[in-house]
Amino acid sequence: MDLRASLSLLVLLLGLCKGLAFMMVRDGVDIEKLIDDADNVDLTTQILSANNASSELLVEGDIAVPRQRNALICSSCKWKKSANGLVEVPVIVSPDFSVYERMKIEKAMLTFTKETCIRFVPRSTEVDYISIENGKGCWSYIGRAGGRQLVSLNRDECIYNGLIQHELNHALGFYHEHNRADRDQYVKVHWEYVDPDQQF
Ligand SMILES: [Zn+2]
Repeated sequence: MDLRASLSLLVLLLGLCKGLAFMMVRDGVDIEKLIDDADNVDLTTQILSANNASSELLVEGDIAVPRQRNALICSSCKWKKSANGLVEVPVIVSPDFSVYERMKIEKAMLTFTKETCIRFVPRSTEVDYISIENGKGCWSYIGRAGGRQLVSLNRDECIYNGLIQHELNHALGFYHEHNRADRDQYVKVHWEYVDPDQQF
């Protein structure tokens, strides 16, 4: 094969790889079968505990507030749907995580692949992308914030399957269920137990 043909093949392969989601098998380990008994944690308690000393401006425990905006309304923060009906969300995962921790993160991302049209894909040159980093605490912005947006998963406190999914849900644009617009059709709020400053 001459040099030009080799280069063409390389470009083609790179193009194909760009669209690939994260792999199901890494280092010979089937990521989907990765089990951690410690995943049976109370997520709310774990998140609040991990974020206790966070200096980030957080609401509801783990939702970061963009400093350049004055509201939390997510009106133009959806990730775009491709013509094929899939929503590709570019992601980079910090090299600070161990191989095992990366597998846990990738496993959580793959659960979206199985159940939804969301595809977390390795970022190449996309302007808007999620950067999963070993930050202080477990938190995320709501939806597509623009540019590089951090999802903080402290490696000592946040690497649990449900917790990773929780923060990724925020990055996709989901608020906490108890704040849904149709909340009152499904739950009864005991307002007498809610701080007046926190009632909405
Ligand atoms: Zn949350």
